[in-house]
Amino acid sequence: MGKALIIGAGGVASVAVHKCVQNSDVFEEICIASRTKSKCDELKAKLDGGKTKITTAQVDANNVDELIALINEVKPDIVMNLALPYQDLTIMDACLATKTHYMDTANYEPEDTAKFEYKWQWEYRERFEQAGITALLGSGFDPGVTGVFSAYALKHYFDEIEYIDILDCNGGDHGYPFATNFNPEINIREVSANGRYWENGEWIETKPMEIKREYNFAEVGQKDMYLLYHEELESLAQNIPGLKRIRFFMTFGQSYLMHLKALENVGMTSIEPIEFEGKQIIPLQFLKAVLPDPASLGPRTVGKTNIGCIFKGKKDGQDKTYYVYNVCDHQECYKEVGSQAISYTTGVPAMIGAAMVLTGKWNKPGVYNVEEFDPDPFMEELNKWGLPWVEDFNPVLVDALPEEARE
Ligand code: NDP
Repeated sequence: MGKALIIGAGGVASVAVHKCVQNSDVFEEICIASRTKSKCDELKAKLDGGKTKITTAQVDANNVDELIALINEVKPDIVMNLALPYQDLTIMDACLATKTHYMDTANYEPEDTAKFEYKWQWEYRERFEQAGITALLGSGFDPGVTGVFSAYALKHYFDEIEYIDILDCNGGDHGYPFATNFNPEINIREVSANGRYWENGEWIETKPMEIKREYNFAEVGQKDMYLLYHEELESLAQNIPGLKRIRFFMTFGQSYLMHLKALENVGMTSIEPIEFEGKQIIPLQFLKAVLPDPASLGPRTVGKTNIGCIFKGKKDGQDKTYYVYNVCDHQECYKEVGSQAISYTTGVPAMIGAAMVLTGKWNKPGVYNVEEFDPDPFMEELNKWGLPWVEDFNPVLVDALPEEARE
């Protein structure tokens, strides 16, 4: 049916490539292109020989001209941006120049300021519309599936959703005192930033990790979780009509938090360049270089993730609550695709998002977040491709415990 150019060959791209090859009716041909071509070749060597034709290429995705030349050579129907958020705009520029559909899993972030905002990408709306091509933003798990869950809840169960809590729980254990489950630089930028949530039309800022709750997650158990800013809050606050509040919580263990605090205290998480032995280095990038490669965590990570959304709102004038979540087992993922669940839960929806565009189910010119499309076909595909979801119509709410019992 179609051809995809996949940019990036890291943890998420590796899972997406496995899944595209499994879904060969849709992905007849893929080209894997990244900064380090040997990683693309390794993936090809592992997966070649099936129905999907695989080619590889080298590209610097910060360079629009290089990207345009590659797109003109490969002639894909869609570019799947599974590189880093810093490359979103250059890849969108190249898609515009070549009139090629675009998708990604994370919003653009300038490399020198940790600022997660859709504004830069939303500014491309008219140009994509005029070019007659679709840009699908944030088709990972969170953002991604969390937006699809929200659209699905609104379509099937609510007249109005008033409250959304997104709960991202990783009950996995990799055995290291400190490691990040995906790109350390992106992960640490996210968790060391101030927290923020949206209530009654306003953003309320918190200090990093200031708001803590406990939750008993199905198949994982009781975990501490902390309020973070997460990029889907921005688009869902706009796209879910009548919303009063949306928050995002992520679980962290004590060891992770203790190490992060120490690294912060000594300046290792800073993105301000410093001079070291006559060379400018960014401490966070140096830290990334000494931490375990997330790709190496796969074989040693045991346990499960549980990510989902709790909704509270109204149906036929009555109060209603609804929780929809997915549980994913790190070892099962590793057995299937050679990666742990964090890359798996992102790579599978990336493949599904691209398939939605390629099959014409989610194809309208412009720039859209996942929740702006019909959630039903995407929800069906989640069940089919390894991320089945569970519904709970009487969930325990995040603030169920009285304030004094929370600490
Ligand atoms: P990795 O660091 O494992 O992989 C990134 C890949 O991009 C590497 O192959 C890297 O190449 C390549 N790359 C980086 N810069 C360039 C460049 N200038 N030109 C070409 N290729 C480049 O990251 P992940 O796979 O963990 O994450 C991929 C994306 O997924 C990120 O944007 C991340 O934010 C997002 N993500 C989204 C989630 C969601 O749920 N929505 C969850 C987790 C991640 P090289 O090998 O040379 O370094």
